[in-house]
This record gives sequence, C-alpha cells and structure tokens, in this order.
Amino acid sequence: MKRAARPKLASAKERAPVILARLKTEYPEARTALNFENAYQLLVATILSAQCTDVRVNIVTPEVFRRFPNPAAMARAKKPVLERLIQSTGFFRNKAKSLIGMAQALVADHGGEVPNTMEELNALPGVGRKTANVVLGNAYGINVGVVVDTHVARLSQLLRLTRHDDPVKIERDLMSLFPQVDWALLSHLLIFHGRQVCIARRPRCEICVLADLCPSARIP
Ligand code: SF4
Repeated sequence: MKRAARPKLASAKERAPVILARLKTEYPEARTALNFENAYQLLVATILSAQCTDVRVNIVTPEVFRRFPNPAAMARAKKPVLERLIQSTGFFRNKAKSLIGMAQALVADHGGEVPNTMEELNALPGVGRKTANVVLGNAYGINVGVVVDTHVARLSQLLRLTRHDDPVKIERDLMSLFPQVDWALLSHLLIFHGRQVCIARRPRCEICVLADLCPSARIP
C-alpha cells in the first residue's frame, strides 16, 4: 500500500521558534557538560575538549586546575609536565603548546585576565571562533555567535535549518533564525538532543519531539 505523503513543512524561519521552544521544554537542564568555575578554567577545558569527550576532560581538569590555577601559573608550566597531565585527552602535545601559549598571551597582553571579546579571544594561540564562542556564551553570558560542533552541524542539516557543511556558514544561518539571547543555549539544546534522541546514524525519530517539524523524520 502506498504511504500517504507528508504535508509540506513550514519554512525554517517559521519552524525555528517552535523547535527552540520544544527543546527548551524537553531539556530544561541543558548546559555545558564541562566543569569550570571561571573563564580561565572554561578556556582550558574547552581547548582540552577538542577531539575528546567532555567526560574525559572533566576527569583531567581538576589536577590541571590544581597545578596551574591561573594564567600566570599556566604560562610558567613545564611542557612535559603538562603533557603528562593531559595525555589521555589526545593530541596532548599540541594542546599543551596551545595552553601555555594562550596563558603567556593572557599574561603579556591582558594582565593575566581572559578577555571578553571575540577579536581578543580569537587572537590567542589555540583559540578559534568555536572556543571563543564557548567562553563568551558560558563564562560571560555574551552571545556573539553559535557554537557549531558536530551535533549542532548534523542536527541543523537534518532539521534543514541550513544547507551548508561549513561550520561558519551553518553558524551564520542559525544566527539569522534564532534570537541572539538564546544562541549559547541553542547549542546546548541541540547537543542534548543529538546525544539523547537524534543520535548519529540511528536517530530515534519515533520518540522525537521535533518529528512533525523535521524534513528528515523517518516515521513508519
Ligand atoms: S525527527 Fe529524527 S532526524 Fe529529525 S530531529 Fe528528530 S530524531 Fe533527528
């Protein structure tokens, strides 16, 4: 028997506020999974989180923060010592280089403080736009962009909120669809949904609260 065609979905602009509202209701606890107490700690944790799980980063950071509690201490870190501490997060040589370089730049150019603008953060060694967005949105409550990780990119494409693959273009599309005040939260919501329901390669469309809004929904 032929399956009935799905009714045509509304535009991304019309669906976006409904998607946001439903995800807010579904995941009221959505926040970054990285443990941190200040902007410096979040910056360190975010650099360590590249190609690594948040769970693994949270195992490593307590000792890193104890040994190097501020940018001045990290700037003086011996690279082999730091490398040993962060080895299990992967790419540890590059990460150690970034952490020490980042801390030295904070001491030299910012009085040992973490700046709160995209331009200044982005200029630090090892700090790209994504890391800067994480720190601005979660440590300072400043929304200048949307963090696009693999979950955010994948869900944005499945939900047809973007037609792009490039994270910068995906970010631009999301910024045009959602209110600025929600940009940091939006990332967390999409990441929660990507981990719990819209799982890569085996999305659970049958229990998804966005199924009626999703052009990719696979429902019998
Ligand atoms: S309907 Fe399916 S593909 Fe669409 S967001 Fe939900 S789980 Fe993902």
